[in-house]
Amino acid sequence: MASRKKDDAGRRPVVAVIGGGFSGLLTAIHLLQGDPSVVVRLVERAPRFGRGRAYSALHADHVLNVRAANMSAFPDRPGHFVEWLAAEGEAAGPDAFVSRSRYGDYLQALLREEIVDPDAAGRLLLEADEAVSLISQDGGWRVELALGRAFRADACVLAVGLLPPAPLPGADETVDAAAGYVAEPWRLDPATAPEGDVLLLGSGLTMVDVALSLAGQGRRLLAVSRHGLVSRGHGAVRPAAAPQGGFATPVEALRTLRRLARSADWRGAVDAIRPITADIWRGWPPAERRRFLRHARPWWEVHRHRMAPAVATRVASLAASGELTVAAGKLERLSWDGAGFHARIRGRGETKPHDWRFDVVINCTGPRGDPETAAAGLLADLRRRRAIRRDPLGLGLDVTDELQVVGADGKPTAGLFAVGPLTRAAVWEALAVPDLRNQTAQAARAVLSNLAAAG
Ligand SMILES: Cc1cc2nc3c(=O)[nH]c(=O)nc-3n(C[C@H](O)[C@H](O)[C@H](O)COP(=O)(O)OP(=O)(O)OC[C@H]3O[C@@H](n4cnc5c(N)ncnc54)[C@H](O)[C@@H]3O)c2cc1C
Repeated sequence: MASRKKDDAGRRPVVAVIGGGFSGLLTAIHLLQGDPSVVVRLVERAPRFGRGRAYSALHADHVLNVRAANMSAFPDRPGHFVEWLAAEGEAAGPDAFVSRSRYGDYLQALLREEIVDPDAAGRLLLEADEAVSLISQDGGWRVELALGRAFRADACVLAVGLLPPAPLPGADETVDAAAGYVAEPWRLDPATAPEGDVLLLGSGLTMVDVALSLAGQGRRLLAVSRHGLVSRGHGAVRPAAAPQGGFATPVEALRTLRRLARSADWRGAVDAIRPITADIWRGWPPAERRRFLRHARPWWEVHRHRMAPAVATRVASLAASGELTVAAGKLERLSWDGAGFHARIRGRGETKPHDWRFDVVINCTGPRGDPETAAAGLLADLRRRRAIRRDPLGLGLDVTDELQVVGADGKPTAGLFAVGPLTRAAVWEALAVPDLRNQTAQAARAVLSNLAAAG
């Protein structure tokens, strides 16, 4: 990558990366390594840089759902995470599922390396604050921070992760104020959660995290989701040959997957299409993508996002002992009377709903991406300024193939890029590290060539 020279005033180009989780940190590293003249200002509102929502976990049961061998932060150094673990004196091999907190240590070690790297000296500035406003100004951006400071950037990258879960449908105004209601499950502290029976809304990996945190406390845990599906576990994989065609619609894709699964196994079939998932997604017209989201997404996700084997065993034993029940159904009404929650739930296929009482209710429906739902904060500000717009499916931001954000007028917003799960409408797979490590490198390349073209 050709480096952009300092401008006439001797100023180095500045890129503001907003959000210091996996996506922001790795984008920053690729920017610094890709151009020796660029300065990166990495803005993070949480106390620790590099960890984000996923890798701030403290509970030892919260382990990665991907084998160590596939968790390198760098696309061109596949063994990097395993080598780091070995250098740290850990016995964990490539097939291990290490804790998410340990992975957070790895990310912070990458940050430390960058800070002390003489090639990056003075070029990585950590801004411990929240970006509240990005204002387009003089061909660049004015980045305003919550504590009142502001700085100028030539380009900005949004790496802000997803938004908190949606409010529970059917919940009345008493619920939000209740001490036993947990709107953001990642903030749950099992030691201080009110005692008693728990209703978990959602049955995905977030629910699994929460159930493991609360297990063994003598509680009854009921998890309810539309289909009542729980992620499958990792296991031995019989690899399938890469499929040739047969993905023109979600229905056709399902047929192809079933055929592959017969020749290998379901894990091998799903793994075989991972490298071409983005192409398949891009090949579907919006109506087919919508059909996939409506009908096939829950099944795809439980096969695609698997639990570590030890986690799957624990979940099975919680279910066998009756401590955890997972049901398919719909929450129709939820209220709090000052002492407990009243939940009306209709089981899938049932005509009559049932009334239940719980002491704790935890929203495990998962983070969402639709920027229209952001009532406050940076995305709401950018929406008001017409610098961003939601993608047609409401999964996140509308972005170009080069990850440039599309504004309300349908044109790319100059100097504004996005990376991470908010871009998933463009590629579908923009959630796990094996996808994001490629995307962060791609985002940095796009920003640098944009700066080079402008300079
Ligand atoms: C619980 C959980 C477990 C996961 N486990 C795995 C796994 O085992 N393996 C795997 O491959 N993937 C896993 N993933 C998926 C994936 O790794 C993450 O989604 C990924 O880390 C996303 O990183 P991110 O930086 O895009 O977003 P985030 O991690 O959400 O980080 C965004 C950061 O931006 C900051 N921020 C937001 N707005 C502002 C603002 N205005 N100003 C300043 N800072 C701001 C936030 O504080 C946050 O730190 C998991 C995800 C979750 C949620």
